[in-house]
Amino acid sequence: MANSSSPYDVVVLGGGSGGYACALRAAELGMSVALVEKDKVGGTCLHRGCIPTKALLHAAEVADQIRESEVFGIKASLEAVDMAGVNAYKDKVVSRLWKGLQGLLKSRGITVVEGEGRLTGPTAVQVGDDTYEGRHVVLATGSAPKTLPGLDLDGERIISSDEGLRLAEVPRSAVILGGGIIGVEFASLWRSLGAEVHIVEMLPHLLPAEDESSSKLLERAFRRRGIKFEVGTRFEGAKVTDEGVQVTIEGGKTLEAELLLVAVGRGPVSQDLGYEQAGVEMERGFVKVDGHCRTNVPTISAIGDLIPTWQLAHVGFGEGILVAERLGGLNPVPIDHDGVPRVTYSEPEVASVGITSAEARARGHEITEFTYDLAGNGKSQILQTQGAVKIISAKDGPVLGVHMVGSRVSELSAEAQLITNWEALPAEVAQLIHPHPTQSEAVGEAHLALAGKPLHAHG
Ligand SMILES: Cc1cc2nc3c(=O)[nH]c(=O)nc-3n(C[C@H](O)[C@H](O)[C@H](O)COP(=O)(O)OP(=O)(O)OC[C@H]3O[C@@H](n4cnc5c(N)ncnc54)[C@H](O)[C@@H]3O)c2cc1C
Repeated sequence: MANSSSPYDVVVLGGGSGGYACALRAAELGMSVALVEKDKVGGTCLHRGCIPTKALLHAAEVADQIRESEVFGIKASLEAVDMAGVNAYKDKVVSRLWKGLQGLLKSRGITVVEGEGRLTGPTAVQVGDDTYEGRHVVLATGSAPKTLPGLDLDGERIISSDEGLRLAEVPRSAVILGGGIIGVEFASLWRSLGAEVHIVEMLPHLLPAEDESSSKLLERAFRRRGIKFEVGTRFEGAKVTDEGVQVTIEGGKTLEAELLLVAVGRGPVSQDLGYEQAGVEMERGFVKVDGHCRTNVPTISAIGDLIPTWQLAHVGFGEGILVAERLGGLNPVPIDHDGVPRVTYSEPEVASVGITSAEARARGHEITEFTYDLAGNGKSQILQTQGAVKIISAKDGPVLGVHMVGSRVSELSAEAQLITNWEALPAEVAQLIHPHPTQSEAVGEAHLALAGKPLHAHG
């Protein structure tokens, strides 16, 4: 017999970045919250995404530093990569954060319901025999790896990022299908750990969503690192062989490798969950929302990877908080998606906020831009990294975009975000004195140059 609980203010379906952030903020605002999760709270980001990849990439950086230690006058040699040890370190990081999150949800009085939920009406989510009624329901079921027609993932030779994060050994060689963020991060990781890597990307550049200048700098760095790639190249087929996998690409060329990582994007998890039956409008599997994450059904909102905005954990957090605040009677402003920082944590890192030059022109802006080469930046020289900071501003107007490539440039996103989101003028940023020697000086120098007073730059 079906059981029905007394209504909650909010029932959240999916406990990933979006769902748990919404639950936490709603509880903070005094609402009663049920959070339904079929697997582990923390979702993709904590268990199969951001955190495990970045832990592995940190281990990879350690390996790189040992390998290159002589550049700094330190003699050390890399004996071996003990993947069991690397995985244990990664799993420890994940499990500590998971424990912390579970404790946090408990301490805020959130009812965490373990089980697979299904929307059974505009205010109801069913989990097994129980129905959870909510004054409002927030859909946050996230995304899952996609593949291409006719390309089946077997989980061993042809894998997604989910399996890629759990490998017991570093592959000797890998073909990576897709040169977006996930493909590029895995290429960087496996190369640092000793693999031969070959990326196949259909669009003309790696990281095609980034400013073309950033993609080119990354491509140059990857060439130096011995990471092979084909861009503007279609995948034609793959077959598992005795040794691994054989991949055929446009023109009939074949690539052999131990495994094929399919990183062609992630699709929304929305099938058979009762969304359409409840009258929720969808588009290509994504839930359609307005700028306040409202669906067409007044009692239902949707957030995170399930809606067609940037598939990033911090966007999910932001959308979850926005919905909670709206339900709590506050008046949150819609998210400016141009102003969301994007980072690819490869070596070198690629980070951006705001729009690209191409996009600025397409929107009719007359622009001025300046690219500051990290060769002129003291800290970057100390780190022996190469790259650049490119600033795009409207002619005689505010900064529209910041695009950065180099080791550790992700840490400059915070300042870049303030500059673009507060629509600073280059001359205003040029007034700010940056600490020396830091990589943030490159941001300052680029603005000095744009303001017509370059210091360590050929203006
Ligand atoms: C390899 C990789 C690396 C990444 N790195 C980064 C990064 O560095 N930075 C970054 O910002 N983003 C990164 N991302 C993206 C980030 O993980 C996602 O944007 C984020 O997790 C989306 O959050 P979400 O809450 O929308 O969905 P998810 O995190 O996918 O959470 C959805 C949750 O809903 C649950 N669920 C689904 N259906 C049901 C159901 N019927 N009943 C109950 N529960 C259900 C799932 O189990 C899951 O826990 C990465 C992703 C991947 C795959």
